Amino acid sequence: MIDSHCHLEMRQFDVDRDACILRARDAGIEAMIAIASDIESSIAAIDLAKGHPFIYATVGIHPHNASTFVESATCEQLRALCSDARVVAVGETGLDYHYDHSPRNVQRDVFVRHMELAQEVDLPLVIHSREAKEDTLVLIEQCGVKNAVLHCFSGDMHMAEVLVSRGLYISFSGVVTFKKAEQLREIAGMVPDDLLLIETDAPYLAPLPYRGKRNEPSYLRYTAEVIARVRGISPQDVARITSNNAKRLFGIGEVASSGTITYKIRDCLYINLTNRCTNECVFCIRYKNDFVKGHNMRLLQEPEADEIIAAIGDPTAYKEIVFCGYGEPLIRPDVVKAVAGYVKALGGQVRVNTNGQGNLVNDQDVLVQLSGVVDHISVSLNAQDARTYERLCKPLLDGAYEGLLGFVRQARRYIPVVTLTVVEMPGVDVAACQAIANDLGVNFRVRHLDVVG
Ligand code: SF4
Repeated sequence: MIDSHCHLEMRQFDVDRDACILRARDAGIEAMIAIASDIESSIAAIDLAKGHPFIYATVGIHPHNASTFVESATCEQLRALCSDARVVAVGETGLDYHYDHSPRNVQRDVFVRHMELAQEVDLPLVIHSREAKEDTLVLIEQCGVKNAVLHCFSGDMHMAEVLVSRGLYISFSGVVTFKKAEQLREIAGMVPDDLLLIETDAPYLAPLPYRGKRNEPSYLRYTAEVIARVRGISPQDVARITSNNAKRLFGIGEVASSGTITYKIRDCLYINLTNRCTNECVFCIRYKNDFVKGHNMRLLQEPEADEIIAAIGDPTAYKEIVFCGYGEPLIRPDVVKAVAGYVKALGGQVRVNTNGQGNLVNDQDVLVQLSGVVDHISVSLNAQDARTYERLCKPLLDGAYEGLLGFVRQARRYIPVVTLTVVEMPGVDVAACQAIANDLGVNFRVRHLDVVG
């Protein structure tokens, strides 16, 4: 995990800073971002980062301290500090109308100076916003902020949606573990994977079960566990997703640069067989980024069956082996058959997620081949009629929608469990799609837009 926001330079850590850092490392904290709140702490954060390769620093003036910002002098100091190689962001800056420690007009001016500086030095921005939703969003919009995190998010769903629509990161602290934080947990469940971060904000806001005590980076796992629960994934998934995001945002560490063949999500193992597809769906995640749940999916070359089998190992270690990936697996039915046969021979379970065009693209009945080695086939319907399908899924093959329906009818004869799925989005008549599934006598499942894996 990466603690994307902590104040390790603060006096609360003077008695045991080194021990605290050691405990964080023992708890699996790969990196920590030491966040500044004034000039003094900016220098202290840089010093700390220089002494530890896994600690990085930011420079900035917290809105509480906005009154200390002296127009040209402070800006010059911050600009000079930004040139240090250990500095990875500008901030924390923003607006705090809860405490109002600095006049609001001064907070707004200083926030704007920080946004200008971040753009000038080409670093991301760390934003603090408390009870200042409207002004925060207006200023972000006015300044054209494109690369930032709103830390310790405490806003509402609308604020989160606006930030997400701008492609800005949202970071959740230990507050998400508090008993009364139901609304915050709901928001933590909806932020897209590629914009999610976690933090401690130590020494403040310790998560349960340490609420009220001094917080420290080693407590990050409690926040990760709650977020995993509300998102229906494992803490390891949260760790991988948020660490990759922190690396991308702050430009630190290494992110996998090429696609993985197999990837674990929850208790299933997914197979990334190909990046080719016979559709060009308008909602396809492939056109947004290369990652699913923190796994790079962009294959440099398509794996052969023996490579996939080696990557799977013992299939009974997983609830299911799922052919999915960043493309249409049934473009390669021979490989699916060979690998699925291996899995079944060892007693594993096999599911294939497909767009239902396997017969069309191969000009043969691939379902006959899959009979006996595939337990479950999940077909993306995504539209109540051919016209809507053409508009949303942009099939490359003629007669794709009819072909898909024929495939599902056929699948019922050869595969024990068949499911039709739709992605919930404008133009999709979910009730009509459900009726099609009922007519075909198969299961039906609604998926949320931008939730993959
Ligand atoms: S069928 Fe799946 S992989 Fe192919 S374009 Fe559509 S969403 Fe992407």
